[in-house]
Formats: sequence, C-alpha cells, structure tokens
Amino acid sequence: MSELADIDTVGVVGAGTMGSGIAQVAATAGYDVIMRDLNSKYVRQGMESIESGLGRDDGLDATETEAARGRVSGTTEIDDLAGADVVIEAAVEDLEVKQDIFDDLDRVCGDTVPLASNTSTLSITSIAAATDRPEQVVGIHFMNPVPVMPGVEVVVGEHTTDETVALAHALAEDLGKTTWESADKPGFVVNRVLMPWVNEGIRAYDEGVATKADIDTGLKLGTNVPMGPLELADHIGLDVVLHASETLHEELGDRYRPAYLLKRKVEAGDLGKKTGRGFYEYEG
Ligand code: NAD
Repeated sequence: MSELADIDTVGVVGAGTMGSGIAQVAATAGYDVIMRDLNSKYVRQGMESIESGLGRDDGLDATETEAARGRVSGTTEIDDLAGADVVIEAAVEDLEVKQDIFDDLDRVCGDTVPLASNTSTLSITSIAAATDRPEQVVGIHFMNPVPVMPGVEVVVGEHTTDETVALAHALAEDLGKTTWESADKPGFVVNRVLMPWVNEGIRAYDEGVATKADIDTGLKLGTNVPMGPLELADHIGLDVVLHASETLHEELGDRYRPAYLLKRKVEAGDLGKKTGRGFYEYEG
C-alpha cells in the first residue's frame, strides 16, 4: 500500500472538464502527470485546457508555470499508466465504461497502486468490483472547476481500507483541497443534497412561482449561496444534472424524481452554458 511520500506520478484517465482540471492541480502541486483519453484530439483539447489554466488561479509565476506544464504528458495508451503511483479516473459517468477502465488499470498498474474514481453518483463499491484490489479503490470527488473549487469529497467503498482512505485525504490536501468523507451511498453528501434543491428550483419556475431571475435572486440573497438553482444547473450542464437526478431517483425513490422541465430542456439540446442556452442565454 502506497503512502503519499511514495507518489511522484499521478495518472489521470479522461482529459475532459474534470480530468484536465485534476491533471492541472496535480502538476501545480509538483507531481508528474500522465493523462489518458481515447483519441489524440481529446488529449490535445485537455492539454490546451491545462495550458490556458496554468498560471491563472494558482499563483505560479512564469517559470513555475512553464515547469508545471512540462510535468504533464498526454497519451491514448492505457499501458502508459503503468508508471503511475496513483490513478484518478475522470472518464464519462457510465458504470460499464468505468468498470472496463478499472479492469484495465488493475492489470496495468503495480499491485500497490491505489485507484480512485471522480464519479459524481456511481457506486465506488461497484467500480471496485471490477478489480482484484477493491481495498485500494476509493472515491476522490473533485468539484467543478477543479482549480478553483476548494473542496473534495472522499468516498469510502465497502472494501476500501483505512490506509487507502487516509491516502486519498492526504493526496487531495496536498493538491490544496479541504476534504470531507462520505459513505458509498447514492449521491454521496453533495449531490444527494444539491440535486433535489436544483430540481425544486426548476419546478418552482415551471409551476409559475416566480420568474427564473427571481428564483435565483431569492436563493442567493435569501440563503447566501453564490448561484441560484437555475444558474447553477446551466453551469453544471443540464444533461449532467438530469443524469445525476435519474441515478438518485432510481436508487432512492420518488423524492428524487427529476423535474419535467429539466428533461424537456435536455431533449431540446439546451444543456446550459456549454450549448449557449439552458435556462438563460449565453454568448460565445
Ligand atoms: P467530460 O465529458 O468533460 O470528459 C470525459 C472524458 O472521458 C472525455 O474526454 C472522454 O473522451 C473520456 N473517456 C471516455 N471513456 C474513456 C476511456 N475509456 N478512457 C479514457 N478516457 C475516456 O466529463 P467530465 O465533466 O470531465 O466528467 C468526468 C467525471 O467526473 C464523471 O464521472 C463525472 O460524473 C465526474 N464529475 C463531473 C463534474 C462536472 O461538473 N462536470 C463534477 C464532479 C465530478
């Protein structure tokens, strides 16, 4: 079992929004990083995102930024993760895809290498079941955008050992984050509480309680949060909110039913900021 002092190289699976953010904060903290995605276009996009992010919110000067950039390499080959001392998976939110990835990682990585998933809602225990090392599988759930958000949720699977949990906390803290811990129950702490709040905001709008601006203003000024539920849904992506809500609904029952208007917007392709239109319109 590895300790933080044994970790020089962080493997990251997935070079999308979260994977590139995780690679960026790991490089900023001084780790070598190998980031893997399915094809060279996705790897290149992830590398570009890291390059534009480094030096922006991390307090690095030009020399340190250059050094951090030099610590990240991209690959399309899973076998290149053989050199990683820990791997954090941030591929698409699909249990079968994640189980295939963990099966591969179990084969490719050294026996004592801990394997973490950044899943938002899937069971760490189910992901770990694809490996012969479930005791070394843990959830390290970063928040979006990774370089900016200060918190990380550590998720303890059925077989995760205390040593693996301690390492997950230590690694996240070394990446500059504050951690909290959740049992491997649907939605963990954050999404379990957040998703009903977002869906209730959407329902309040759909049922004519107030305008969307007034719902967002009411929640911001009334409860001191930085974004109201409709703005936040656009920021996360309505497809991501719907997927997380459906998983919680399946696991926990009717109180987690996704709002009707959320489904309709996703069907229409209005996914929020990333498509230029969700509950609000965005330029560029
Ligand atoms: P994304 O779609 O931006 O990126 C996912 C990447 O994974 C894509 O580039 C895709 O090509 C790649 N991928 C798919 N299969 C792969 C494989 N077998 N090997 C390597 N790469 C593969 O998604 P994202 O928003 O970065 O989310 C990634 C994970 O993080 C998901 O599990 C999601 O639930 C979780 N998460 C997302 C957010 C968020 O706000 N976006 C927040 C916290 C956690």
